Amino acid sequence: MVSISVLWREAWLKPLSIYDIGTKVCKFCNRKLRNQDFVTSCEFCEIGIMHDNCANEHILNKHKAGIRKKIELHKDKPLHDFQ
Ligand SMILES: [Zn+2]
Ligand SMILES: [Zn+2]
Repeated sequence: MVSISVLWREAWLKPLSIYDIGTKVCKFCNRKLRNQDFVTSCEFCEIGIMHDNCANEHILNKHKAGIRKKIELHKDKPLHDFQ
């Protein structure tokens, strides 16, 4: 059987102005951030603020090993907080 893992992101939203985050563009696609775009940062490197979906792509492309490590790390731990 193939085991399927999903990657949990924090569910809360934190409104920030582009002055707070110090950039007007997404560091992945270089497009201008628009009002109420979903953004996040990479937990594996210091690339900076990206669109949420750009970050998914970035992390899947650049940090496969990091994800695998994370999955291994949590393999045998049930998610107590969410049960
Ligand atoms: Zn982007
Ligand atoms: Zn990264």
